[in-house]
Amino acid sequence: MAIATVNPTTGATEMIVEPHTAEEVRERIEEAAKAAKVLRGTSFAQRAQWMLAAAGLLEEQAEGLGELVTVEMGKPIAQSIAEVHKCVKAMRFYAARAEEFLADAPVGNPSSVGASRAWTRYEPLGTVLAVMPWNYPLWQVIRFAAPALMAGNSGLLKHASNVPQAALFLDTLFERAGFPIGSFRTLLIGGSGVAAVLADERVKAVTLTGSEPAGRSVASIAADNVKKSVLELGGSDPFIVMPSANVAEAAATAVRARISNNGQSCIAGKRFIVHTEIYEAFTAEFVKLMSELAIGDPLDPATQVGPLATLSGRDELAELVEDARALGAQVLTGGTIPEGPGFFYTPTVLAGLSDEMRIIQEEAFGPVASLYRARDREDALRIANQTRFGLSSSVWTADAQEEEWFLANLDAGAVFINGMTVSYQELPFGGIKRSGFGRELAADGIREFCNLKTVWKA
Ligand code: NAP
Repeated sequence: MAIATVNPTTGATEMIVEPHTAEEVRERIEEAAKAAKVLRGTSFAQRAQWMLAAAGLLEEQAEGLGELVTVEMGKPIAQSIAEVHKCVKAMRFYAARAEEFLADAPVGNPSSVGASRAWTRYEPLGTVLAVMPWNYPLWQVIRFAAPALMAGNSGLLKHASNVPQAALFLDTLFERAGFPIGSFRTLLIGGSGVAAVLADERVKAVTLTGSEPAGRSVASIAADNVKKSVLELGGSDPFIVMPSANVAEAAATAVRARISNNGQSCIAGKRFIVHTEIYEAFTAEFVKLMSELAIGDPLDPATQVGPLATLSGRDELAELVEDARALGAQVLTGGTIPEGPGFFYTPTVLAGLSDEMRIIQEEAFGPVASLYRARDREDALRIANQTRFGLSSSVWTADAQEEEWFLANLDAGAVFINGMTVSYQELPFGGIKRSGFGRELAADGIREFCNLKTVWKA
C-alpha cells in the first residue's frame, strides 16, 4: 500500500510520499535512542516546558491542522478542529501531572521486609514504538506521545499509510518545541516494516492502536522479542436502553454516538440494545434522526456525516450490510452508496439480526447501527456480552439497582451511565477480550511505558 493522501471526499490522490529506506529507518532509530538517553537526564519541569510549547504550536495552527485532517481522512471540519484542541488539553494535562503520577511512593511495611525504607520509583524504558491508525490522526498519536515524552521516553511513530501529512507534521512538532533532536520521529514505512523496527534492541516496547489482525501480528513480534506491548483494538460497543431511561435523550445521544467521526470510532456505540417496552418508541426516534442527517463535503460546516476514510473501508462496510440484508435483516434507513465521487455511505439502521450474520461479531466501522430488542435485563446483558470485543459500553437507566447490576456484569473496559462513551485524558482508557490490553490516558497510561523499580534499603 502506497503512503499517500487520497482525499476521501473526491477520491483524488493529493500527495504520494516516498517511504524511508532501511538505512533511513536505522538512522531514525539511532536518533531516537540517543534522545532517550538525553531525556532520561532531564527534569519533569524541563520536559513540561517543552510539552507546553508543543501544545502552543498545535493550538495556534488549530484551524489549518483541522483542515489537513479533514482533507486526509474526511471527518467533518468542526470535529477535526475539536481533535486538535483535545490534543492540546492532553499535552497540558501531562505537562502538569506527570511528576505527580510518577512520584516515588513508600511500599509495604519496611520492618516486615527487614528494611529501614522501601519504595517504588518509575523510570522511562527508552525508545517506544507507536503503530497508529488514521481515524484520529492527531489525537491517537498525542495520547501516546504526551505521556511517553513526559515520562522521559523517546517515541517512534509508524502512522497509518493514508495519513502521511499528519505523520509529517508530528515528525517535527516536538523538536520545534525544544525537545532534543530525535525525541519523536516518524518512520515512513508500511506494516511489513514494523517487525524489523521492533526487533531492534534499541526499541524497548510498542503500543498499537488499530484492528485485531494488526494487533495480533505486532503483539506476537513483541512477544518474540520479549518486549512490552499495549494494544488498543476494535470495539463493537453496546448501547443499552432500559424502560426507566429518558428515551428521547437516549435516542438523540445514540445518533451522536454512532455517527461521530463518520462512524469510524472504536468507542462508538455500534449495537443498540433496547428493552422491548420502549423498543418501538426508541426505534421511531432513532431512525428518524439517522435519516435526517446531512451527508456531504466535510469541509462544509453544515455537514454532519462525511465520507469513509478509504474506499476499501467503505466497501467492507457495504459488504457487512449486504451480508445482513441477504440473511433477512431489515434496513430501516440507509444501506446505500450515494451517487457521485468520494467514499460515502448513507447512515444506516439494521434490525431483525440473527446469529449467522457477520455484523453480530464484526465491527461496523462506519455509520451503520444495529438494533436489538431485549426481553429483559438478562437478555440485554446476554446480547451486550456476546461479541468478542470488550472496549466500552453505555447503559441508560434511572434504576440504581439495575445500574449496579449492569456495572458488575458488562464485559468491557468502561461503562458510561446515561451518556455516550468519550475519551478524556483524566480517565483510563482501554479494553478487554479482543479489544486489547493495557491502558492509555490518566496515571495508568503514563505508567505503561515505565520501569517500576522497587528499592529496598537496609
Ligand atoms: P489497521 O489496519 O490495523 O491499521 C492500524 C495501524 O496498524 C496502521 O498504522 C497500519 O499500517 C498498521 N498495520 C496494519 N497491519 C499491520 C501489521 N500486520 N503489522 C504492523 N502494522 C500493521 O486499522 P485501521 O483499519 O486503520 O483502523 C481502524 C481500527 O482501529 C478499528 O478496528 C478501530 O476500532 C481501531 N481503533 C481502536 C482504538 C482504540 O483505542 N481501541 C482507537 C481507534 C481505532 P498501514 O496503514 O500501513 O497498513
